[in-house]
Amino acid sequence: LPEIAMAGRSNVGKSSFINRMTNRKKLAKTSSKPGRTQTLNYYLINNRFYFVDVPGYGYAAVSKKERRSWGKMIENYLLGRKQLKGVVLLLDIRHEPTGDDCLMYQFLKHCRIPVVVIATKADKISKGKHAKHVKIIREKLQADPEDMVIPFSAETGIGKDEAWKAIENLLD
Ligand code: GDP
Repeated sequence: LPEIAMAGRSNVGKSSFINRMTNRKKLAKTSSKPGRTQTLNYYLINNRFYFVDVPGYGYAAVSKKERRSWGKMIENYLLGRKQLKGVVLLLDIRHEPTGDDCLMYQFLKHCRIPVVVIATKADKISKGKHAKHVKIIREKLQADPEDMVIPFSAETGIGKDEAWKAIENLLD
């Protein structure tokens, strides 16, 4: 089955994204403690594809060595996986992308892996500010105009339809 990977800093809201997209409360464990997910987690969606939750990056409280081995694991997966149709990169809509976010985005572009950017926690800023924040994110990432940056909220469900459309596109 095809796979869609999910990347983003620890605690950015990856589990909440999966849960909202699938309308389930506890498919993916959410946690207020960053850095919980240390292996690839597979979630079978509609018997049609897998969401693959890759370990969150940028978690400071692990050793450099540990971070390097996570990095290698993620890299091996992203580069070696025939079933991989694309990556959903999650960012917090409120903040400028971090250096790690930019590296991840540029790495995916370099490898020609299709990417959809989800700017999550959109409920935390007013709707009128979404466009401005999306623009800042695009500039910082140096995003390809063809790539989508979708304001999303796991709390309210805003952006869910658009996110599904983008994912269907990756799967086709
Ligand atoms: P993960 O580590 O990337 O899987 O992040 P989680 O999904 O566990 O979320 C981390 C924290 O952010 C939790 O406390 C969530 O409740 C919160 N969170 C995630 N998405 C949203 C969102 O869209 N809106 C709000 N307000 N909080 C969110």
